[in-house]
Order: sequence, then structure tokens, then C-alpha cells
Amino acid sequence: MIVFKKIKELSSFIEEEKKKGKSIGFAPTMGALHDGHISLIINSSTSNRLTVSSIFVNPTQFNNANDFDKYPITIEKDIDLLEKNGCDILFMPTVKEMYPNGFVNPLHYNLSYLETVLEGKYRPGHFQGVCQVVHRLLSIVQPHNLYIGQKDYQQCMVIKKLIETTHLNINVIIGSTVRELDGLAMSSRNMRLNNEERKKAVKISEVLFFIKKEIKSGYIEDLKERAVNYLSAQGIKVDYIAIATADTLEVLENWDGKCPIVALAAVYLNEVRLIDNMLLN
Ligand code: AMP
Repeated sequence: MIVFKKIKELSSFIEEEKKKGKSIGFAPTMGALHDGHISLIINSSTSNRLTVSSIFVNPTQFNNANDFDKYPITIEKDIDLLEKNGCDILFMPTVKEMYPNGFVNPLHYNLSYLETVLEGKYRPGHFQGVCQVVHRLLSIVQPHNLYIGQKDYQQCMVIKKLIETTHLNINVIIGSTVRELDGLAMSSRNMRLNNEERKKAVKISEVLFFIKKEIKSGYIEDLKERAVNYLSAQGIKVDYIAIATADTLEVLENWDGKCPIVALAAVYLNEVRLIDNMLLN
């Protein structure tokens, strides 16, 4: 695996590889890698001649300074994992390299409804930061195929919209959520949980499985309320539990029993905010 820190060097290397007719798969990350990230790398390396990953903890997508300061960093382990799982190129830029003119983005991405609900509502500015960094990374790497995870359901929709509105010719491949044996969705932030918090964290996927089992057409607010009450009783602070249409993320209070839906959760275990989601039908 070749590690690049400079945009120019990476771009010209990829340009040469593309001239040889190689297909490029790209899986961007913020590091502290786990099997969820690695599943994206494996997907990419089975379908592309060249797999590129990046590790960059992007300051502009953190709406909470403490969350940014405490974001886990495990670079040596990450490099080892990437190398063992078929990654060909790792891009690891500094903040200065990515944002030589500072963080202000002259572009505003029109995400309309997507920015007003769920993560958009609870993390103001987050998706603008995500678009800023993903747009920049995509213009540097110029992949044919982009690999992202369903774990960040709304982010997948945002990135698809970004690609559509900026007319980039990139296929998006969404990988399913990789979970721990007890059901907890893998996340870099899980590393920040102490033993007690880690035990409680399993309740997040439990309530999603519960919703999946119990959901019936008609009024669904009471089911959501039961889920929120269950988590709150465990001392878990709930930002939201929502049930929304799977394709447009319209938050529902009633379900017709037919349209594809997804349950989404965002909670705090003390300081650590975790999200998860599950397709329901
Ligand atoms: P992050 O490093 O958290 O920014 O995530 C980088 C990519 O890995 C994103 O596309 C995530 O959606 C994806 N990802 C994170 N956790 C998981 C997981 N448990 N399963 C599958 N993909 C994941």
C-alpha cells in the first residue's frame, strides 16, 4: 500500500493508473477503523483494480468541539488493517493540505429537506461539512465507484444528492451495517465507551429490532414512544427515534403498511453520541 499525504502526488499517481484503464474504488473514512470500514475496502477491492481509502478527521463536520477533540485515532493499526485487506492507496492529508484557505466554504450545498430532519436538525452544519470534505475528496481521487456504509443512512442520501447535484459521474455502492456479535453497530466512537456504557449501548439495536418486530400499519407514534421510554429508563438520552420513508426520509406518524420504511436512532451514552438504523420491511 502506498501512503500519500499530498494532493498533487496522489492526483498524478491516480491519473497515471487511470490511463492504464484501471477502475478506481474509493472508501473515505475518519480512521479508528473497524470491520465496518474494512467491509467497504473488501467490497471495493473485489470489484476494482485499484482501491483507495482516506483517513481524515474532518473538522468542518463536527458541530461539537469535544466530539472532535476526543475522536479516536489509531493510525498504525489502521494502516495495518488496510494493508491486510486489499487497500492499494491510503490518502492521509493534514488539515492544512485539505483546507489551505481555512474552513470557510464558498459553496453552499442545497440539501433541502434532508438538512432539516434527524441528523440535519440535531447537528446543525454537519452535512454541509460532510459535503465540503466529500466533494473535495471526490475531486481529488475521481473514483469510478464510491463505497459508503448504510450505518450512516442519512449521510448516504446526502452524498448521493451531492453527486447528483454536482454532476459527478460516480457510482455509489452502499454496504450494509456491520455489527458486533450482540448487535451493536460498529462505530469508531464505540472505543470511547466504558464497560457500563458499552453494555447499555446494545439497547440501541435492541429497540430497532423491537420496532421491526412490532411495527404494524396505522398510527406508529406509540411504538416510537415505547422505544424512547425503554431507552430513557436505562439512562440513555435519546435525541430521536424516528420511522421514515426509506427513499426520501420523510418522517412518518402513520404508515400505510406498504411503503419501504427505516427506523433511525440517535442517542447519548453520557458524552458519546451514537447512531444506528434498520430497514423495517
Ligand atoms: P467514518 O470513519 O465513521 O466516517 O465512516 C467511514 C465510512 O464507513 C462511512 O461510509 C460509514 O458509513 C462507514 N461505516 C461506519 N461504520 C460502519 C459499519 N458499522 N458498517 C458498515 N459501514 C460503516
